[in-house]
Amino acid sequence: MPIERTHPLAPDAAPRDLWLAMRRGAMGRCPHCGEGRLFAGFLAVAPACERCGEVFHHHRADDLPAYIVIAIVGHVVVGGMLAAETHGDWPLWLHVGLWPTLTIVLSLAMIRPIKGAIVSLQWALRMHGFSAQPDGDDMPVLRPRAEDLETGSAAR
Ligand SMILES: [Zn+2]
Repeated sequence: MPIERTHPLAPDAAPRDLWLAMRRGAMGRCPHCGEGRLFAGFLAVAPACERCGEVFHHHRADDLPAYIVIAIVGHVVVGGMLAAETHGDWPLWLHVGLWPTLTIVLSLAMIRPIKGAIVSLQWALRMHGFSAQPDGDDMPVLRPRAEDLETGSAAR
């Protein structure tokens, strides 16, 4: 069952399918058309879709994909280490070789799909400027007042 969301600031805008968008993003595809590339590099998000023109620079995935990867990989690796210590009699060289390698491989394999899904989630929920309306939390442009310029108090 698709979850469709509209934005309170753009209630007339077409609803966006959250799970479809996140699946497309996890595959590295544009959450809007599903054909263009979401990434311009390994983790660098493209400024816009080359197929449909959807703009991606609004995304603010920040550190969330890394936190999700750390939580998942940490549970898998630490759980595996504890299970191996509890139920197995593995030699030390196997522990030294397996767990760091598994950590690196899982982290590199998961970070890009998770980042794509997070950016697509933001797109589907019309967060951070992905709606037709301007961002509500953008920093205002600060300009000195005319009377401060006249008195020179803006230099403070
Ligand atoms: Zn597109």
